[in-house]
Amino acid sequence: MDIMTSKRIAKLDSVTNCPSCGAARDTALGGRKNRKVPFSCGAIFFVEPGQPIGCLLPCPGPSNTAADLLDREIIEADHRALALAYALGGMA
Ligand SMILES: [Zn+2]
Repeated sequence: MDIMTSKRIAKLDSVTNCPSCGAARDTALGGRKNRKVPFSCGAIFFVEPGQPIGCLLPCPGPSNTAADLLDREIIEADHRALALAYALGGMA
């Protein structure tokens, strides 16, 4: 096995939390030549011989955070509109 694959497997083996969101690591799969590391958030990182560290399933954390931010903009705009309506006496 090439040295870089060994180093990449060692690197993945050293990761204890999802590199994106910090979720806990689950039980890794693989042998001497490859590794597949799942995390409790759903992300899966892997190494195959001669290939760079890859992501089989991306961490949903950043996308969930982005969705929450978009939704918060709607909620806050709605609250501002309601407050303005009350201030103007239009919601009596
Ligand atoms: Zn994650």
